[in-house]
Amino acid sequence: MKRAKHSLKGSPMKISQGFDGGNIEVLSCESVDDIRLKIRADKHSAFYQWFYFRLSDARQQSCVMRIINADGAAYPNGFRDYRVCYSYDRKHWYRHDTSLDDGCLNIEFCPEQDSVYFAYFAPYAMERHHRLVAKAQSAEHCSNRLIGQTLDGQDLDLLRFSLDVGKTRKTERRQCWIIARQHPGETMAEWWMEGCIDMLLDIDEPLTQQLLERCDINLIPNMNPDGSRRGHLRTNAAGRNLNREWIEPAMDSAPEAHLAKQAMAETGVDFFLDVHGDEALPYCFIAGTEGLANWESTRQAKL
Ligand SMILES: [Zn+2]
Repeated sequence: MKRAKHSLKGSPMKISQGFDGGNIEVLSCESVDDIRLKIRADKHSAFYQWFYFRLSDARQQSCVMRIINADGAAYPNGFRDYRVCYSYDRKHWYRHDTSLDDGCLNIEFCPEQDSVYFAYFAPYAMERHHRLVAKAQSAEHCSNRLIGQTLDGQDLDLLRFSLDVGKTRKTERRQCWIIARQHPGETMAEWWMEGCIDMLLDIDEPLTQQLLERCDINLIPNMNPDGSRRGHLRTNAAGRNLNREWIEPAMDSAPEAHLAKQAMAETGVDFFLDVHGDEALPYCFIAGTEGLANWESTRQAKL
């Protein structure tokens, strides 16, 4: 028999964000129908768009939440026809309609439970990241190397999938590199990485076997742990957009790119995939390096 749940009475409604990846500023939450919020910009940077917060003690109350700085976000069109992600159990995430007016993103929501979480996209927490790395390195054909630490003192992990047996000799194997989440607010990039790692772990999968007979796969599942934990959209702890730091990344401002580049120099790179997420496009696509001055049709054909 299912028992009716009793709420603890007397607690006023609250908005909070003090957890991994949390991001919101509360301007006003005295009344459920006039909750005014603001997305916090990345530290040392003007970028913002990622938000993640919890609404508590508002069960069965019609709440109106207004994010008042939506029109100044990094990609305001990302909020057009946007459906916010929400979850009660932090495992299953659902979508809910929003509206845009006067530069504000409006979320009207009546919680069915005492506590509900809202986020720009389904979050990918650092704890889940650590579980992913730990699970992968337990496999016989996967090794794990801590290539260094971030400015906040977090670990930057490299996973390497390699089979000792194969038609191709070890020295002839192609070195493939895949990195994800240089932009921490693009959490879908690490969800993608989790799927990729699951496939590489499945050694009975013919595609995995064929791939690992010819290639070593080097992965950095999360290039920006500090931005991820801080609830940033684009940058690391120093406010650097890592995607723009690869020419000469300095250890004191962009150690993530510096360390990744160093590890790549040790193996060489035959193939490189940098996984991102898009604010608006609802499908997967591959963009090459067509912008390079020496781009040729032969390279386009290879792509
Ligand atoms: Zn990106």
